[in-house]
Amino acid sequence: MPAIEPTPAPQRVAVLGAGMVGLATAWFLQERGVQVTVLDRTGVAAGASWGNAGWLTPGITTPLPEPAVLRYGLRAVLSPSSPVYVPPRADARLLRFLAGFTRHSTAAKWRTAMRAYIPMNRRAFEAFDALAAGGVQSMTHEAKSFVAAYRTEAERSVLLDELAHIHSAGQEIEFDVLTGAEAREVEPSLSDTIGAAIRLHGQRFINPGEYVHALADSVRARGASLVNGSAVVGVHDEGSGVRVVTSAGADERYDAVVLATGTWLGELGRRFGVRTVVQAGRGYSFSIPIEHVPSGPVYFPAQRVACTPLGDRLRVAGMMEFRSAEAPLDRRRVLAIAEAARPLLRGADLDARTDEWVGSRPCTPDGLPLIGRTRSPRVFAAGGHGMWGITLGPLTGDLLAEQITTGRQPAELDPFDPLR
Ligand SMILES: Cc1cc2nc3c(=O)[nH]c(=O)nc-3n(C[C@H](O)[C@H](O)[C@H](O)COP(=O)(O)OP(=O)(O)OC[C@H]3O[C@@H](n4cnc5c(N)ncnc54)[C@H](O)[C@@H]3O)c2cc1C
Repeated sequence: MPAIEPTPAPQRVAVLGAGMVGLATAWFLQERGVQVTVLDRTGVAAGASWGNAGWLTPGITTPLPEPAVLRYGLRAVLSPSSPVYVPPRADARLLRFLAGFTRHSTAAKWRTAMRAYIPMNRRAFEAFDALAAGGVQSMTHEAKSFVAAYRTEAERSVLLDELAHIHSAGQEIEFDVLTGAEAREVEPSLSDTIGAAIRLHGQRFINPGEYVHALADSVRARGASLVNGSAVVGVHDEGSGVRVVTSAGADERYDAVVLATGTWLGELGRRFGVRTVVQAGRGYSFSIPIEHVPSGPVYFPAQRVACTPLGDRLRVAGMMEFRSAEAPLDRRRVLAIAEAARPLLRGADLDARTDEWVGSRPCTPDGLPLIGRTRSPRVFAAGGHGMWGITLGPLTGDLLAEQITTGRQPAELDPFDPLR
């Protein structure tokens, strides 16, 4: 455990970013008696935390850089319909990210990163249960079924291999191997093209937008101010406190600050020694009507399409587009996801799409989040969770709140040092 110079426990903390990670940190700071202000340049769940797939899947929460990613090859990633897309002309920052990501896409690095995830995965649900017990009014749902479906057994072998690696790394995950017919019995929304499947056990899901808003309501009800439309442009450590300056000219002092700005973490983090690139891994989603709403998530790994039941509709999500978070929604990607899913689902109207959305996964080159103290003892980072900020957001908030209020870094956070 790194030595941290003693500073008095902060009484007033500003959390920058009202996504899952920022709001969970705010909530758990309140549990420890801290007065919190949450500032977001837009509002609650304005970033990646709204239109994502909402899977709470610690059993398959693994580092993104892995050897299979490299096998895609350049031709695949340059095509607009490919599930992983890199623009042909990458800027210096993206090149730095891609070089680091490639360096980490080895089996040995994957195993090291997986070891960092396992203690977090083990406790991920515990943090959701604490939020429920503490009055957050949105449910987590047990996934009665969670089916990964394929056209062929050969396609399925990729996930079976991965599950074997996950298991041998020490992560608990129970699953059944199903034929196409067995999969349709579990999940009648699968089409006849599905010839092989895997059913995962013990996972959950949420409606992420609804959940994060309920979390915000709880944080507000417990006495925090949430300031929407408040873009933070300056964070200044003044020794005994931290000044937070917004683009509208507001200038407030706090005892400590948490940077939970998702894909934009680097903008405010760099001057506090956070040098790891946080790159937008953009994903798209929309929702559709379907005759038989699945009773849990449905995953088409070969197409990289993730589906989640949201009330009487199905959210369909996918794509990993490494480009600027500010770029507009690219309709070709929405259509590519719809066309990929069309032959695989039964009774789904993929042309009756609503809520078309693009959002940015905050991806790091080593696939690990950035959680903990920065170069300043009063400025903390919480972000960079890539594909898993919903699953691990609440536990991140819990552990970071412990570190901020006690000055001791919980062991689970050791591998996520924002200064690495
Ligand atoms: C298609 C897709 C599917 C996904 N599916 C899943 C899934 O099933 N399960 C899972 O665990 N994860 C999933 N993820 C990943 C997950 O959505 C993210 O990891 C998570 O939402 C990140 O949360 P965050 O709070 O760190 O960032 P965000 O939700 O992006 O929040 C950051 C906030 O900071 C604000 N902000 C930025 N800069 C400033 C500033 N200067 N001043 C003030 N505010 C600022 C933004 O407005 C934003 O509201 C998915 C992502 C995508 C795109």
